[in-house]
Amino acid sequence: DAFIVRVSQARQLNAFIVETPEHAIAAAREADAARAAGETLKPLAGVPIGMKDLFCTKGVQTTAASHMLEGFKPEYESTVSQKLWDAGAGMLGKLNLDQFAMGSSNETSYFGNVISPWRRQDGGNAPLAPGGSSGGSSSAISARLCPAATGTDTGGSIRQPAAFTGIAGIKPTYGRCSRWGVVAFASSLDQAGPMARDVRDCAIMLEAMAGFDAKDATSLQLDVPKWEQGLNPDLRGKKVGIPKEYRVDAMPGEIEALWQQGIDWLKDAGAEIVEVSLPHTKYALPAYYIIAPAEASSNLARYDGVRYGMRELPEGANLQEMYAATRAAGFGPEVQRRILIGTYVLSAGFYDAYYTQAQKVRTLIARDFERAWLDCDLLLTPTAPSAAFALGEKSADPLAMYLNDVFTVPSSLAGIPAMSVPGGLDKDGLPLGLQIIGKPLDEQGVLNASLAIE
Ligand code: GLN
Repeated sequence: DAFIVRVSQARQLNAFIVETPEHAIAAAREADAARAAGETLKPLAGVPIGMKDLFCTKGVQTTAASHMLEGFKPEYESTVSQKLWDAGAGMLGKLNLDQFAMGSSNETSYFGNVISPWRRQDGGNAPLAPGGSSGGSSSAISARLCPAATGTDTGGSIRQPAAFTGIAGIKPTYGRCSRWGVVAFASSLDQAGPMARDVRDCAIMLEAMAGFDAKDATSLQLDVPKWEQGLNPDLRGKKVGIPKEYRVDAMPGEIEALWQQGIDWLKDAGAEIVEVSLPHTKYALPAYYIIAPAEASSNLARYDGVRYGMRELPEGANLQEMYAATRAAGFGPEVQRRILIGTYVLSAGFYDAYYTQAQKVRTLIARDFERAWLDCDLLLTPTAPSAAFALGEKSADPLAMYLNDVFTVPSSLAGIPAMSVPGGLDKDGLPLGLQIIGKPLDEQGVLNASLAIE
C-alpha cells in the first residue's frame, strides 16, 4: 500500500503512463493468504513492480509511449510479464519510456518527459533527464515508487538510465529473456532485463524473467541458473580487462576518476586487472545507428492504421493516404527520423554501402570481444560518458544524444551480458554508473563483479 500511495504522490515525475493499483493489491492479498496458510511463498510473492510500457499486458493499455498505440489493449500477455506474475509479483502500473524505446533521455515520449528525482547540489535546479529509453523505470525506482521494474535494452536503455539515477540494471545475454509480446524496436538487439535498487534484487528479478520460450525463435534453450544463490563478491582468480579504446577523447576527468575507483574496488575484491584492446570500438556507434534504424523501419511497418491502435482517415482519403496520414500523426519526430534512416540504408542503391558494411562491423566488434576473452573474464568500463544532463539540453541535437550510447552499444551488438552498477557521485552530487561486461551467458560473473563494486 505504501508504494501505491507513493506512486500517487509522485505524479509530477511522470514516471507512469497508467497506474494499476488493483493488480498490485491482488498480488499482495495472494501473498498474505499464502503466508497465513503456511504455504511456501513464491520468489516475488506480493512484490509490487513497475512494467515498462513496451511489454504487452493483457487488457491494460500498452502504448510504447506513442500516439500510434494510444488506447491499444493487447489480447495477450508478454512472456516476461507473465513470468513475473507467475512468480507472485503485482503490477503498480505501466512505466513511461522513450517512444518505441528510441532515445537516451525519455524526451521522445508522446506522454511527456519523465523527470529524474535527482537534483544538482550546486543550485543548478534544472530538472534532469532520467536517461532513456527506460526513464520511467529508472525514475520510479530511484524515487522509491517501486522496488524494481522491467526495462529493455537495445543499445543501452537499461544501463544508461540506471547510471543516471543511481540504481542497478542488467541486460542479459541476447536470448535469455523472451521477446514475445515486447513491442519490437530492433529485433536482433532487443533484450529485456531488470532494473532495481541493488545487484541482489536484479538477480532475483532476472531469475523470474529469463527462460526458454518456444514463442520467440531467438530464445535460448537453456535452464535459468540460480543467480541469486550464486552471488559472491570474492573475485580472486578473476581477470578484469580495461579496454583502452574506451578512453575516448575528451572524457571528463570525473569519469576517468570513477573508472579508476572501479579498478581499485575490483582489485580489493581480489581481481587481477589487465589492459585489453577492442580495436573496432569506434565503429560501434555508427554501425548501431544503421542496424537499429534499419530493423526499426521494418518492425514499424506494421503500424498501418488497420491492425493496431489509432487511425487517421481524412475525408475522401484512399488507402495510401490513410497510411500516410496515420503514420504522420502517430509517430513522433524521433521515430520518423529512425524510419527514414532505416529505409534509406536498406534502399537498393545504398544497401551495400551502409547496411552490409554495418553488419560486417558488427561481426568485427563481436570478434574483438571474443579475442579479449582470451585475456580476461570480464570487462570494466564507465556506463555513460557523463552524469545526467538537464532535460532539453540535448534534445535538439540527435548526434549529441546518440553519443551517450558510446559505451553501451558495443556489448549490445555482440549480444553479451552487461550491467550498470552505481559507482558514486560526481562533483555536483549526481550519480555515475560503472559497467561490467561479461562473456556470453556469464550473467553470474557480471553480477558478482557488480556486487563487489556495490
Ligand atoms: N539510446 C539508444 C537508441 O536511442 C538505445 C535505446 C534502447 O536501448 N532502447 O537507440
